[in-house]
Amino acid sequence: MSARPALAVIGAGPRGTGLVERLAANAPALYGDRPLDLHLVDPHPPGSGRIWRRDQSPLLWMNSMAEDVTMFTDDTVRQEGPVRKGPALDAWAADVREGRTRCAEAAADPRLRAEIEMLRGRDFPSRRLQGAYLRWVYAHAVAALPPSVTVHEHRAPALRVTGPRDGRQLVHLAGRAAPLAVDLVVLTLGHLDAGPDAEQRALSAFADRHGLVHLPPAFTADSDLSALPAGEPVIVRGLGLAFVDLMVLLTEGRGGRYENGEYVPSGREPVLYAGSRRGVPYRAKIGYGLQGERPPLPRFFGPARAAELRDRPRPPDFRRDIRPHVDKELGYAHYHRLFTAHPERTAADRAAFEEKYAAAEPGSAELRDLIADAVPDPADRLDLDALDRPLDGIRHTSSDALQEAVRAHIAADLSRRNDPGHSEDLAVFLGLLSVYGTLVRLGDTGDEWHGFFSYLASGPPGPRLRQLLALSRAGVVRFLGAGTTVEADEERGVFRAASATLPGERVEARALVEARLPAPAPGRTRSPLLRTLYEDGAAATASGLLAVDPGDGRILDRAGRPHPRRFALGPHTGARTSGAFTRPRTGGPAFGQNDATARAALVLLRRLHPDPGD
Ligand SMILES: Cc1cc2nc3c(=O)[nH]c(=O)nc-3n(C[C@H](O)[C@H](O)[C@H](O)COP(=O)(O)OP(=O)(O)OC[C@H]3O[C@@H](n4cnc5c(N)ncnc54)[C@H](O)[C@@H]3O)c2cc1C
Repeated sequence: MSARPALAVIGAGPRGTGLVERLAANAPALYGDRPLDLHLVDPHPPGSGRIWRRDQSPLLWMNSMAEDVTMFTDDTVRQEGPVRKGPALDAWAADVREGRTRCAEAAADPRLRAEIEMLRGRDFPSRRLQGAYLRWVYAHAVAALPPSVTVHEHRAPALRVTGPRDGRQLVHLAGRAAPLAVDLVVLTLGHLDAGPDAEQRALSAFADRHGLVHLPPAFTADSDLSALPAGEPVIVRGLGLAFVDLMVLLTEGRGGRYENGEYVPSGREPVLYAGSRRGVPYRAKIGYGLQGERPPLPRFFGPARAAELRDRPRPPDFRRDIRPHVDKELGYAHYHRLFTAHPERTAADRAAFEEKYAAAEPGSAELRDLIADAVPDPADRLDLDALDRPLDGIRHTSSDALQEAVRAHIAADLSRRNDPGHSEDLAVFLGLLSVYGTLVRLGDTGDEWHGFFSYLASGPPGPRLRQLLALSRAGVVRFLGAGTTVEADEERGVFRAASATLPGERVEARALVEARLPAPAPGRTRSPLLRTLYEDGAAATASGLLAVDPGDGRILDRAGRPHPRRFALGPHTGARTSGAFTRPRTGGPAFGQNDATARAALVLLRRLHPDPGD
């Protein structure tokens, strides 16, 4: 007699939860009421997982607005399985508020309850609130599974998966002698810690020799920040989202507060000297919704282009073969919106312009001339390089002048990105999302472009940038400028930072914080599970991510062969989507991936355990 059918999902954060939702949606048609043991393995509570767990500072926010976060599919998602409707985060909060949905933990947690009472669609919720939504989604998805499915939660990390290619897989858990024996595994491990690279190891060793503090790249909410003393300078490398978390935890997290837009220090804050390659924080989130015509995207960079690039005899080079198409697509989004919503800033017939735009080669002089003729004011033309590097070529002679200039840049960015008079910015944002979807199909999001995407499309909430401005005025944050470099001075036993924007100026500190997530690298992964998979023959992409089949997420070996019984989804894989939660009605490629993997898993389970009559 064969063992009961069994499936293990390793990692029960949003992605693992999304997979369970898809298993439930597809089971009636593909699996019926056959028995199944579904094992969910995660040391953190299922649903919220590690990032959205309850026991974290309530000061940390989501980087998305409540109305932009859904865990449920709709008819815009390209998937074979059925749509199962469910509330986005804002609608769920309204259901709880108005008594249509019960949320026991909100009832027991006054702070959460108060947040739910106040929450509106365009608010940025706390990570804890998102965690409550995710745990509810998880419970909802489990309840939707056929009664023949038994769910087993294991609150432990998986250490290894062993087993033959064509046989049962054994999932070894910490603290449990007998491994789980399952037919197949799906890894939804999220962002993983990586050990330090050579540069980080050298900086840590330097810090140890001189009694300094060095915090290497990490998930900021998990870092021990107590080693950063009040009033002391701290050099911070990185001005992205990890910086925002760090800034919050070291200011309000240490008792500071905002009064009438100004920061009132507690006296326990260090002084943050913050720099990065760009020298400025990520662009503010756009603060208004789309009115009127939506740019019809994708236009020049969609599935057809992806297929054409993928079928070339040589793999396309991102910069040479892909980027020009990406830029043409973003330009299209920008000018389409300019012509339809702000025609007074154009000087050509729209149809004629669009026809010529379509015919011009990406990146060509012809395209540039066409735009220059049709859009008289250079400020109305899309200049991706200038957007990307606003401090390039700028020099200041004093740190105070630099502080003022960066504050002016942030204030201007905030004001523009909250001004529907520049709705071409919103069109470019939609273009970025669309391009991302195509790049995922292509299996190459280009590391540099991924950074640019995050900078432009995934910046902090406006209120966070207003806080940053106040912290800068209060002298708690000081900007270092673009092209920030950090050196370790053996003689003086300090870290020293310099930047291209402020030649000649140096900042010395006894603490250095790397404000970013660790870059994935197979050789340095801190995940024993992933390490053993690589040792077992799994392949990595050029960016250090786990190589998977973009179709159904099967893990690829170094010969490119999909593993018949091992699947992986999410940010640790080469088929990563933007990593972000899906906005309602935007097609959400991650949903399509979850659906394809869930269906492949159910079909395989059924094949491995045929009914007597099959
Ligand atoms: C700090 C941070 C903030 C973010 N904020 C936003 C945001 O505001 N909006 C947005 O759209 N996106 C945000 N993102 C993007 C993020 O990728 C997604 O929000 C989402 O959490 C990804 O879901 P996931 O399930 O793939 O990964 P995770 O949420 O990381 O979940 C993976 C789970 O796998 C578990 N796991 C890992 N290894 C093992 C193992 N060996 N055994 C068992 N379990 C294991 C972990 O404990 C974890 O619970 C953020 C990301 C980070 C890192």
